[in-house]
Amino acid sequence: MFIISVASALLIVKDFYSIKIQSSVRSYINGQAEYSKGRNDAAVNLINYLQTENLVYIAEFKKAIAIPLGDNIAGNNLLVNGDDSKTKAGFLAGNNHPADVSDMIWFYKTFSSFAFAQKAIKLWGAAAPHVNRLSTIGEMVQQLQQQGKLTPIAKEQLIEEIDGISVLSSEWESAFSRVLDDTASDIKIVLQTVNIFLILLIMSISFLFVMKIINSLNKSESELKATVIMLNDTNRELENFSYVASHDLKEPLRMVTNFLGLIEKKYNNQLDETGKTYIHFAVDGASRMKKLIDDLLEYSRTSINKITYETVDLNEVIDRLRTDFQDVLAEPGAGLFAEAMPQIVANKLQMQQLLQNLVANAIKYRSEAAPQIYITASATADHWVFAVRDNGLGIEAEYFKTIFVIFQRLKTNKIQAGTGIGLALCKKIAERHGGEIWVESEPGKGSTFFFTVSKQL
Ligand code: ADP
Repeated sequence: MFIISVASALLIVKDFYSIKIQSSVRSYINGQAEYSKGRNDAAVNLINYLQTENLVYIAEFKKAIAIPLGDNIAGNNLLVNGDDSKTKAGFLAGNNHPADVSDMIWFYKTFSSFAFAQKAIKLWGAAAPHVNRLSTIGEMVQQLQQQGKLTPIAKEQLIEEIDGISVLSSEWESAFSRVLDDTASDIKIVLQTVNIFLILLIMSISFLFVMKIINSLNKSESELKATVIMLNDTNRELENFSYVASHDLKEPLRMVTNFLGLIEKKYNNQLDETGKTYIHFAVDGASRMKKLIDDLLEYSRTSINKITYETVDLNEVIDRLRTDFQDVLAEPGAGLFAEAMPQIVANKLQMQQLLQNLVANAIKYRSEAAPQIYITASATADHWVFAVRDNGLGIEAEYFKTIFVIFQRLKTNKIQAGTGIGLALCKKIAERHGGEIWVESEPGKGSTFFFTVSKQL
């Protein structure tokens, strides 16, 4: 990551300097054009003056020659590493744009020792004396004119010299211009190479970085898989253990219950009231323990047995529930109401257990009112959704999740006997059917238990 940031920062720096370098070279190229134009205009105006002696041409000559002279001042000052303000003034006199001048000075100072710059400096140096000579001729012409010595012969000689200067200067200037053009294209190639290099660097680092992330993801995925396998094994072992333990506990418990029954029968006359109460408590405790063991066995059996699916008519399942709970449902106002139920693919026994537990709870945790239970069915794209609604005590929201955990019971409903296994069993059954279970409720207003069954079993 650090290297990517460094490479990106390098790209930004490179872009900054690319623009600076390229605009400097461009400024030199413009400056050179102004230089040539100034020198050429100066020569033309001086010749015009010599031919016409019209003073307008002298004024134009002075204006034009000031441009290459200004550049020469800047160039000489750069060569001797003189004060920047003098260089700036020279460049400005050379008609260079004020915004470009600082970059031109920076470019010269940075690259003056490079071969291309040395070449350009040499050509610039070679062109300078011609411009100086042109300027001197201009002054000479004015003096001669004032002294009345500007004879036709003198004029002719001077025009010849000016023409000679023009020819030589334009050669130097074209050579200088070529060096600048070559420099511009060399710089372009260097910058493009740097660009490609940096982009390749960023791409390779990003590639390595992504590979590293993929490797570590693969590693954590295989670690996760190993953990899941280990957890499943441990779970299975625990479920096996609770099955075996509860199964083996049944026999000694049966003995305790039998012998308590025998004591009750044989020694009933000899027992006082306290003794009878103790025996009653012991029998009650043993029967609750039996219920706990039976529930636990049921729960572990649901977890470890292989499940088979068949087409189940839920109407039949509900009819059976009506028979099982007929005593309570016979109470005035009570009822188990169900819409026409669908036929679904499921394990019949487990569907029976699930609905039986929910209906039994609806009755067990009833309110003062006669229990009324409504069972409805609906469907989503891939699941059946069932709801069992009652008008019982209701459940506080804080228990919505915990009641589905084995042995968890509501603190408020402890008066009703129970093992805290029923809803955990319902959850296990829903999960084994590719679904889930949840409750919506409000204390005093009844509860609705929802569970889903996958349509792809
Ligand atoms: P048990 O009924 O043996 O205690 P369950 O797992 O069936 O165990 O239920 C867990 C707890 O959820 C119950 O103790 C009870 O407090 C609460 N509960 C379950 N069903 C209902 C219901 N229909 N109305 C109100 N409370 C309920």
